[in-house]
Amino acid sequence: RRAAYAALRALPPVTKDGQRITLMVNAGLRDDAAALDLTGADGIGLFRTEFQFLVSATLPQRERQQRLYRDVLEAAGDRPVVFRTVDIGGDKALPYMRSDENGEENPAMGWRALRVALERNGLMKAQARALLEAAAGRTLNVMFPMVSEPWEFDEAKRLFEAQRDWITSRHRALPTQIRYGSMLEVPALAECLDLLLPKLDFLSIGTNDLTQFLFAADRAHPKLAERYDWLSPAILRFLRRVAVPAKEKGVPVTICGEMGGRTLEAMALLGLGIERLSITPIAVGPVKAMVRSLDLAKLKPEMERWLSEPPPNMRKALTEWAQAHGV
Ligand code: PEP
Ligand code: MG
Repeated sequence: RRAAYAALRALPPVTKDGQRITLMVNAGLRDDAAALDLTGADGIGLFRTEFQFLVSATLPQRERQQRLYRDVLEAAGDRPVVFRTVDIGGDKALPYMRSDENGEENPAMGWRALRVALERNGLMKAQARALLEAAAGRTLNVMFPMVSEPWEFDEAKRLFEAQRDWITSRHRALPTQIRYGSMLEVPALAECLDLLLPKLDFLSIGTNDLTQFLFAADRAHPKLAERYDWLSPAILRFLRRVAVPAKEKGVPVTICGEMGGRTLEAMALLGLGIERLSITPIAVGPVKAMVRSLDLAKLKPEMERWLSEPPPNMRKALTEWAQAHGV
């Protein structure tokens, strides 16, 4: 099987009925960029910049951040890299940074990600400059984690634009283009999509956090981790509810949670009309094989029907459909 996946490396992820799917990889460390060549992926759809912070004994200074970002961009060449600003705090606490003085009972819902970054904005300013300077002469794709309300996106973007202006005033090289995106992993944001979408260059749905917040079930709790299925109608309907208006507004939507790296789940996502996945590198082979054996035009009406009238077991229904259709 591994040999079969390796043979797929040079082949594009195109469905049987000719739909080109975008398959990217999730990454976080310098060496992860090698996964692009190993898998033949279309780019890095999620670069988790907090990894550098988590593996460091001390706060990585701007120069160190910049070096990492430049190395990753260079390894990626023409392929896009989407950098996510730090998602630290909460359960990703840094030993060298004091987090919430009062401790946190619910760290996943706590003082983390953009909530920290907008308040401790020295951290975010340094990161913005590191990213802007690392991407000089090319496109910078940047997105913000845990956006809960549209104004948080505005504020984060403003902070980047201020750094861009500062670099301009110093006559230093800038990215040729800066594309701003938001993660959608907090359900509340979906209620404000009409306000958010016009601001965005792209949207990336983080199904790991989204699932735990939708079901009010801790993603790390051993008793709950397997309890709620990614293929449950609640999740699939929610994703469709986000993907449809985004598509109408011309905002590209990517799924970057672990869900997209499972072949059956990935098939369901394509059936919902989501055409961009950023997944763990080892999943690229199996997911690409699925894509190339799928008649998407046949699946879509079936998904539509299943979402209106969910079968008792969605996973079973999808599995049987896949088997019957040679996927
Ligand atoms: C997610 O929440 O789905 C996501 C991609 O972000 P992380 O797993 O880093 O929280
Ligand atoms: Mg997340």
